[in-house]
Amino acid sequence: MHAFNYKEIRTPVFEETALFARSIGELTDIVGKEMYTFQDRSETSLTLKPEMTASVIRAYIQHNLGELQPLTKVYYLSPMFRQERPQAGRLRQFHQFGAEAIGGNSAIIDAENIALAVAIYKRVGVKDYSVKINSVGCEKCRPAYKEKLKSYLNNVFEKLSSESRNRFEQNPLRILDSKDETDKALTKDAPLIKDNLCQECTSHFNELQSALTRLHVGYSVDGTIVRGLDYYTKTAFEIVSGDLGSQDALAGGGRYDLLTEQLGGKQTPAVGFAAGIERLLIVMEKQGIDTHDPVHPQVFLASADEHGKQWAIQKSLELRQAGIACEIDLLGRSLKAQMREADRQHATVVIVVGEQELKQEQVTLKQMSSGEQLTVKTVDLTSTLQKLLSS
Ligand code: AMP
Repeated sequence: MHAFNYKEIRTPVFEETALFARSIGELTDIVGKEMYTFQDRSETSLTLKPEMTASVIRAYIQHNLGELQPLTKVYYLSPMFRQERPQAGRLRQFHQFGAEAIGGNSAIIDAENIALAVAIYKRVGVKDYSVKINSVGCEKCRPAYKEKLKSYLNNVFEKLSSESRNRFEQNPLRILDSKDETDKALTKDAPLIKDNLCQECTSHFNELQSALTRLHVGYSVDGTIVRGLDYYTKTAFEIVSGDLGSQDALAGGGRYDLLTEQLGGKQTPAVGFAAGIERLLIVMEKQGIDTHDPVHPQVFLASADEHGKQWAIQKSLELRQAGIACEIDLLGRSLKAQMREADRQHATVVIVVGEQELKQEQVTLKQMSSGEQLTVKTVDLTSTLQKLLSS
């Protein structure tokens, strides 16, 4: 996130219910049946956040973040709550990371946002994911397309699933990403929004594709990606993995040029994505990628006796203040057990200290990966470690 110059934003775990109802849309699954909504003591209706974009835009408007810079780039990592039937990859409290860029129209911002999500999957070593993109048009071209789609669907209306029939009037685009097999077959040849875009949306979509190519992001165009929420315009995208089963989306996002105005701010174009952390972990586990905590001590100060122990306690403070991650024995273990522990925790350097070393005012550093040893005066220990660990 920092490499792409996105800065962290944290918002409260709940918001007023109206915020989500107005932004995500009354007719979506989230607002219709998945929100954890409750009343506080003053009978204000509150909701545990089911997604982050609405909260970010609420904060953006409330705190005038657009005044600080013309393009606001923020990221988050936060729990989300949706009352869904729990299954593999679908939890009622789950976690998302995501990034929103608020204040620009250019499709290059969309491409950079997608490239950021991809860079994260690459960095953790995920293989075999695919990026699917689409354009869902804007308020100029979507109404005419909706009518075209509805007249196509009218011919098969009676055969559609009841869920799709309910969506017919207000949200017919969602019928295209129905999971129902009959719906899928019935909509196989339906007109797609990407083939019915206005001039502006067409050139935006073309620019997105050439920017993705320049950023070396492999993608395919999928006209059925419409995203569940009401607020999307132009770019819509998903990153999916074959290792996820039926809930195959690792991340999803898109452009939402109308949302800020809809929530009471100035007209402000924006784009963002949200990615499921538990789904990422499922994929990493399936692909044999190490999901262990990467935090490990750079230095393990092992003590050979009581003198060494007292010294280690004091020295650990000095090393930590110098920015060196360091561990000492806090369980009164034997030297052998301490060495085993240093090894188990993948310490970079181990130093054994006892009365003898302290008398000679020098200690031996052992670099665990190479086994190389180095004798250093105790007064020079911190500076030597700083040099050694930064090289
Ligand atoms: P959405 O806002 O629904 O597109 O969600 C974005 C991402 O969050 C999805 O692609 C999933 O990776 C993840 N996600 C959404 N809902 C859940 C859930 N109930 N449990 C776990 N992960 C989820």
